[in-house]
Amino acid sequence: MVQYANRMKLLKGSEIRELLALTSKPDIISFAGGMPAPELFPCEGVKQACIKVMDEVGQVALQYTSTEGLPSLREKIVARMKAKNNIDTDIDHVLITSGSQQGLDFSARIFLNPGDVVLLESPSYLGAVNAFKACEPTFIEVPTDDDGMITEELEKILATTENVKMIYVIPDFQNPTGKTWSLERRHKFMDIINKYEIPVIEDNPYGELRFEGENMPSLKSLDTKELVVFLGTCSKILAPGLRIGWICASKENLVKYNFIKQGADLQSSTIDQLIADRFLDMYDLDEHVEKIKDVYRKRRDVMLKTMEETFPKEVKFTHPEGGLFTWCVLPDYMDAKVLATQCLEKKVAYVPGGSFFPNGGKENHFRLNYSCMPEDKIKEGITRIAEVLKANLK
Ligand code: PMP
Repeated sequence: MVQYANRMKLLKGSEIRELLALTSKPDIISFAGGMPAPELFPCEGVKQACIKVMDEVGQVALQYTSTEGLPSLREKIVARMKAKNNIDTDIDHVLITSGSQQGLDFSARIFLNPGDVVLLESPSYLGAVNAFKACEPTFIEVPTDDDGMITEELEKILATTENVKMIYVIPDFQNPTGKTWSLERRHKFMDIINKYEIPVIEDNPYGELRFEGENMPSLKSLDTKELVVFLGTCSKILAPGLRIGWICASKENLVKYNFIKQGADLQSSTIDQLIADRFLDMYDLDEHVEKIKDVYRKRRDVMLKTMEETFPKEVKFTHPEGGLFTWCVLPDYMDAKVLATQCLEKKVAYVPGGSFFPNGGKENHFRLNYSCMPEDKIKEGITRIAEVLKANLK
């Protein structure tokens, strides 16, 4: 019989991926995915960028390139991080990755031995939890409230726990809750981190999708000891199919990420990097992001308004100021998985929240995505979910 490594016992197919397979049928109103709206992709612009790349530098595009990625793209990323995240850096602190997902995988490989402790928000991004699991850590979930990670709880855990090797956070429009950390929390968090000197992985795929309110400084911009590793991505502002993400970290950390990347895939696709680079030369990405935000803002508004009008008052939900998700908290006695089956019978889908808690036991939550459905379907789908919720009230 084939013997697999111990880590494979910890890995199972993501519930979301399995559910997505069920919900991709055209007659289902799905709030289950986390994908950007495909009708907003700049197809013509990317096509023109492709033509330019192949006309002008075809041989370069089809050749290997350096592990850290194209300097001209890294320059643009540096400028963008300065403008959007208040991060002052240079290209020697930036490594291009195959989406930020690769940054998550690499972070675990760099910082975690089996049995080491990872701290993360409760709940947190399932894709990160699954990536980290391959390194066999123990997860400790840090409680959160509307302002983000509760720093008093974080400090209590750090004061009493050995072997904490990494802290993973999504301070802007978190997946799955849509919550954003307050400024005060960010400062308090950094004070604690500076005291304990533990590496922080700041995952920021949604920060640019702010519909209202003030931009918050990234943790990286408040980092005076080079403890924060910042993960960025083009997935939600341009197109996930390009698989362009990046890591911004200290030079010492970046050398380690570079070694791991050499072993994983040598480099991110040269042609994809060139297409992204030329696209950014030819078009105004800010203008494109504004278009995306206009559509998502309207979809969020319709979703929240319909939820306010139709959901029973026992069901609580977040009011995200940006990003792609809202998060629902059901009464304790309800199980979002059971309700998901009833919703699927009514041809509407969401993701049950249990698997966003790495240590389990919290089945009375679910995540709704509003970026991918037109407004009329959002209204209809939420009304159907509300019927299921009402029918399950005690
Ligand atoms: N982090 C978070 C919080 C995400 O939601 C996602 C995508 N859903 C990723 C990372 C991975 O994104 P990508 O690899 O496409 O950059």
